[in-house]
Amino acid sequence: EVVEASASVIVDPERLDIVIPADFRMPPAGLNIRWPDGPLEMEARLLDYKLYAALAYCRANKLNHTVIDSLHARFGIVASGKAYLDTRQALADLGLDEQTCKDIGIRLFKCGMVWPLEATAVRSFAEGLEEILVVEEKRQLLEYAVKEELFSWIGTGKRIPRVIGKFDEKDGGEWAVPQGNWILPAHYEFSPAIVAKAIAQRIGKLELPAEIRARMQMRLAVIDAKEKALAKPRVVTERTPFYCSGCPHNTSTVVPEGSRAMAGIGCHYMAIWMDRNTSTYTQMGGEGVPWIGQAPFTHTKHIFANLGDGTYYHSGSMAVRAAVAAGVSITYKILFNDAVAMTGGQPHDGPLSVPMITQQMAAEGVTKIVVVTDEPEKYPSDVGFAEGVTVHHRDQLDHIQLELREHPGVSVMVYDQTCASEKRRRRKKNTAEKTHFPDPARRVVINELVCEGCGDCNLKSNCLSVEPLETEFGRKRKINQSSCNKDYSCLKGFCPSFVTVEGGQLKKGKSTAGGSIPSLPQPTVPSLRAQGAYGIVVTGVGGTGVVTIGQLLGMAAHLEGKGLSVLDMAGLAQKGGAVFSHVQITATPEDLYATRIAMGEADVVLGCDLIVTASNEALSKIKSGVTKAVVNTAESPTAEFVRNPNWQFGSPNLATQIREAVNDSECSFVDASALSTA
Ligand code: SF4
Ligand code: SF4
Repeated sequence: EVVEASASVIVDPERLDIVIPADFRMPPAGLNIRWPDGPLEMEARLLDYKLYAALAYCRANKLNHTVIDSLHARFGIVASGKAYLDTRQALADLGLDEQTCKDIGIRLFKCGMVWPLEATAVRSFAEGLEEILVVEEKRQLLEYAVKEELFSWIGTGKRIPRVIGKFDEKDGGEWAVPQGNWILPAHYEFSPAIVAKAIAQRIGKLELPAEIRARMQMRLAVIDAKEKALAKPRVVTERTPFYCSGCPHNTSTVVPEGSRAMAGIGCHYMAIWMDRNTSTYTQMGGEGVPWIGQAPFTHTKHIFANLGDGTYYHSGSMAVRAAVAAGVSITYKILFNDAVAMTGGQPHDGPLSVPMITQQMAAEGVTKIVVVTDEPEKYPSDVGFAEGVTVHHRDQLDHIQLELREHPGVSVMVYDQTCASEKRRRRKKNTAEKTHFPDPARRVVINELVCEGCGDCNLKSNCLSVEPLETEFGRKRKINQSSCNKDYSCLKGFCPSFVTVEGGQLKKGKSTAGGSIPSLPQPTVPSLRAQGAYGIVVTGVGGTGVVTIGQLLGMAAHLEGKGLSVLDMAGLAQKGGAVFSHVQITATPEDLYATRIAMGEADVVLGCDLIVTASNEALSKIKSGVTKAVVNTAESPTAEFVRNPNWQFGSPNLATQIREAVNDSECSFVDASALSTA
């Protein structure tokens, strides 16, 4: 998941009044590193002084402090970072505002410095409490530190609060039951709903005023109802991320029949959910290394391992070195697409070219190296390859790979073809004076009268730009000229329906005369609540403007001086996956806590795509009777169509699912894509 957030924040440097601690005794000559300095002296300075200096700073500047206090506090919550924001949102969702927390005896501690945990602040927070709930994502770091600080109270006569975090007391407490009794699970990430349930469960044991208990139960009922509704069996269509149109990995990640490959991190990772016999992956720099341990215990003689060029540069070459040292039989496919593609086409960390890779691999002891490319002609004989390197057209890929898998030891195939998204970016920058990337004046179209709709072109190209075309004679194929990146791998099937047009230009659409659009009434702007944010969820497919809509709304709110946060969850979205933008608007920035819109808390859903809007993630945000939805009905095919020629979009079913979640009268469907391109 790739998540980016923006918010209105105060950045005035004067907002902070930094206090230099008065209770820290500086060692002679200070805390700095120095020369000459032996390792033991360094260690002593770190443990005897530096950590204590950090603790003194934390204490003096109140990095850890009690945010909400109560005269008769009995239940405490400790949280840090994102978990703190989730906790604030959870309390708000449960109807527990600051005054209510004070009234019912809840104390809240915000931990700005988690380790080492400063003792005095947390001990003073814990005084008099019956129980402390530690809210932290992943494993117990803060929880154990809190317990450790309170352990020293044994024998002092002080009341020691029960500390609950990942587990509660049922079934014998911590780590007592396998796959057991998590109250706040260590896997995945928290949502305010998860935290709200845990808080409600714990404070539900206390004596509470009836109306507060009822308010909490009402909120929990909403969460439960939503979870049950989403758990009901239904036809789910997914937008699984897939290689961009014309991506080099469409070809490079294919393995010969009878072989398998291991994946790594990068766009090529998506081979795992394609028909590429590719499974298991490692961290960057460990590509193919599990094979060193597996090889002695299997009858399989050889595997392929995919390794992106960006990874190769910073760490992947060491994986190849390890394989050479171990003497295993493996072919590394170094996928040279000339950019760090997955994160948006940044340049490599340093200079890297195909000849350099071959030289380095030869120096590491790789005994067979080949280069496979879509443009073999760009490599003259004196280009500087390592000795013995041969160059082949990508059409020979299968044959080359069959040879490589018979090679004993480590072999390398550098697959050289520029990332399709990067090509598009560079072509867009082309001017009459300067060509950043060649843009061939050649387009592929499909003659629908000849096309029999067999789907072979989808399989051959693995390309998302080969789309369905519904005709009176049944389903045919068309090339989406706007998304096509001119890889031409769809031509591999030699189908007579394919026509190439040399030098032609796309027809420009006729713009609608401004006067023909009826003037729209000014919308009634809803007023912001006294409590909680106005939540807008924008859903859609990566690269179609979802994030831009979120940013526009956010900027509009910012210009009006409102509080706002925008959370973009894009994942592998630029590769056809689902994108969500959570926009929250409040009267002031101080009113905002969590950046993600909670379950059933969306006021508006702007659905740019039916499939993503009918996903569990989007439906979970909808509250019937409250949420309004406007959904685009344009059908943009998913990656599933590449494999399944009979794939159907399923618009009526998707629309019904959205209607069932939103009150029917609050739901509008419109072909926004057609409107925008009319
Ligand atoms: S960004 Fe480039 S490498 Fe990644 S999937 Fe798209 S075309 Fe392929
Ligand atoms: S290969 Fe593609 S274009 Fe050719 S007949 Fe089959 S579906 Fe139609």
